[in-house]
Amino acid sequence: MKKAFVTREQVQTINETYPTPFYLYDEKGIRENARKVYQAFSWNKGFKEYFAVKATPNPTILKILKEEGCGTDCSSITELMMSDACGFQGQDIMFSSNDTPEEEYRFAAKLGAIINLDDFSNIQELKDTLGYLPETMCLRYNPGGYFRIANTIMDNPQDAKYGMTTAQIIEGYKILKANGVKHFGIHAFLASNTVTNDYYPTLAKELFELAVKIKAETGVCLDFINLSGGVGIPYRPEQEANDILKIGEAVHRMFDQVLVPNGLGDIRLFTEMGRFMLGPYGALVTKVIHFKETYKHYAGVDACAVNLMRPAMYGAYHHITVLGKEKEASEEVYDVTGSLCENNDKFAIDRPLPKLQKGDYLFIHDAGAHGFAMGYNYNGKLWSSELLLREDGSVKLIRRAETPKDYFATLDIDDTMKKYM
Ligand SMILES: *Cc1c(COP(=O)(O)O)cnc(C)c1O
Repeated sequence: MKKAFVTREQVQTINETYPTPFYLYDEKGIRENARKVYQAFSWNKGFKEYFAVKATPNPTILKILKEEGCGTDCSSITELMMSDACGFQGQDIMFSSNDTPEEEYRFAAKLGAIINLDDFSNIQELKDTLGYLPETMCLRYNPGGYFRIANTIMDNPQDAKYGMTTAQIIEGYKILKANGVKHFGIHAFLASNTVTNDYYPTLAKELFELAVKIKAETGVCLDFINLSGGVGIPYRPEQEANDILKIGEAVHRMFDQVLVPNGLGDIRLFTEMGRFMLGPYGALVTKVIHFKETYKHYAGVDACAVNLMRPAMYGAYHHITVLGKEKEASEEVYDVTGSLCENNDKFAIDRPLPKLQKGDYLFIHDAGAHGFAMGYNYNGKLWSSELLLREDGSVKLIRRAETPKDYFATLDIDDTMKKYM
């Protein structure tokens, strides 16, 4: 059973000030989960979670995570700027980009962020761009083939555009060392949204064994291993959630088995989770505004795919709670639709729900990561607000909704839109 972290009464009160649709984040849930992550890896001296900013790029959220000890993982210059402005400093920022413009390398280096290179050729490029290589460098690994857990194929790294081959990575550390780099890291992201406790341990084993090989072949002792993101969340109510404490213990066992006996027991572990840190603690709240009966039953809401693209883009399931009707039987079957001129603009297809009425609030679960962030403006639709439900139950506006004036601002070069601004 998935439970909304607000009641209908709470949402009704919020709605008196802030129109639907809006994103709502649960500060208590975010903090408790972050603490659990740190608890799970407390055995590793120097462990750090670098929150993937792209999942939920909001300064208020980043500052909460900073208070919990997290750094940030950035994929672009604006994410670097946001991290800097939120007070993240130097090596509390990881820059894991790919196909990176030179200007962004320069900015990352200026902040003292850890630069994680995606491609072998980036090593020379970075040296040419900066005129030197920073003292701390990270390389991104791609083992090729299929990534399996037991006999299940989790993903297909050989087709992924990221990372370097084993040969490139070995050669890479030799070059870094010859260029005066002093601290070395490795990074790999091999499967996404893994709802299993075995992903990190399996990945860790592979990277730990590689660390031993790197030491043997290049003399480089890695300072840190970045397990990156990919730890998933149970979008469907029947799925079992990952247990981060168990994951931490299993990684610990691998660490003791592989690294410690090889004199690499000082390696720090980093993670770079986005979805696991924020996904369950954010929801899109939208109101039912229309019904349509044709060949199917449609319930139209005031949000659309621009607010949450995952169902339209990936066919992703997002659970829906009808606030105030949690105890009612799901006796109707609806397609829950938005207003885009796109037939994939459906938050749910053939979804059993309690009988809906106009004005019902739908709580669309698990939208806290890769939700708001993937928004867009198609059909001239505007971005919604983002709200934070604080631990004391109060609500804070952490991003106002976009207005037509915002939407027209970049067009207003010849004053055509002035009338509406
Ligand atoms: C997207 C991304 C993450 C976060 O992924 P999640 O699936 O949200 O955990 C971490 N690191 C890199 C390099 C990414 O691109």
